[in-house]
Amino acid sequence: MPDYFTHSILSQVAFERLEKNVRDCIADRKLYLLGAQGGDVFFMYNLNKSANLGRRLHALDAQFVFENLCRDNPSYAAGYATHYALDSTIHTAVYAFEATCRAPFAHLAFEKDIGLYVSRKFSTPRKIMPKDDVCGATFAIYDCVKKLDDSITLTGVERCLKRYFIYTRTIYARKKQTYKFDYDYSSLSPLIEKSIDKAVQCVRCVIEQNIDEKLFSESFLQH
Ligand SMILES: [Zn+2]
Repeated sequence: MPDYFTHSILSQVAFERLEKNVRDCIADRKLYLLGAQGGDVFFMYNLNKSANLGRRLHALDAQFVFENLCRDNPSYAAGYATHYALDSTIHTAVYAFEATCRAPFAHLAFEKDIGLYVSRKFSTPRKIMPKDDVCGATFAIYDCVKKLDDSITLTGVERCLKRYFIYTRTIYARKKQTYKFDYDYSSLSPLIEKSIDKAVQCVRCVIEQNIDEKLFSESFLQH
């Protein structure tokens, strides 16, 4: 999956490309940015790999996810829509690279390199959200995601967001200024533009509460 910074930066680029009337519906930018991290946040929900909530959320049918989310907080739903657009578009390049590379953890390292490339391409520094913004969104996020999975509880979301913040602090501290792989990242530019276009379209649908069947027919983890 695209990394934290790729999701964060490209969701902001998509936001800038939205029409003013759509942008005006996204009143809470913090929830938009948290939504942009989609199901990735919930990898921290329970650390049991087989029953991991983040994995389950990524396996859900996108139409089901957005039919539910679009009835709730529009800012969170719009951010989550960019997550879907990016996951379902950029992941194909990651799988293609992984197939050609024998380095251990190639998948994750390549995703981090994309984060660095995106940060440079859009001249946007890789930042994380302050703890109060993350943990302060507990109730709002719980209200949005509880419909997606019956097992989600308020205490669970609260604990998850605390862990998630610690995780983001770690990736922020460990981020690199150089690429791990000798790869022409500019060759990904058309794919990145495609993912932004798709994000813009998905956000429009979510704000209009009109979940287009074709647009939302892909999997979060599209191969
Ligand atoms: Zn994801």
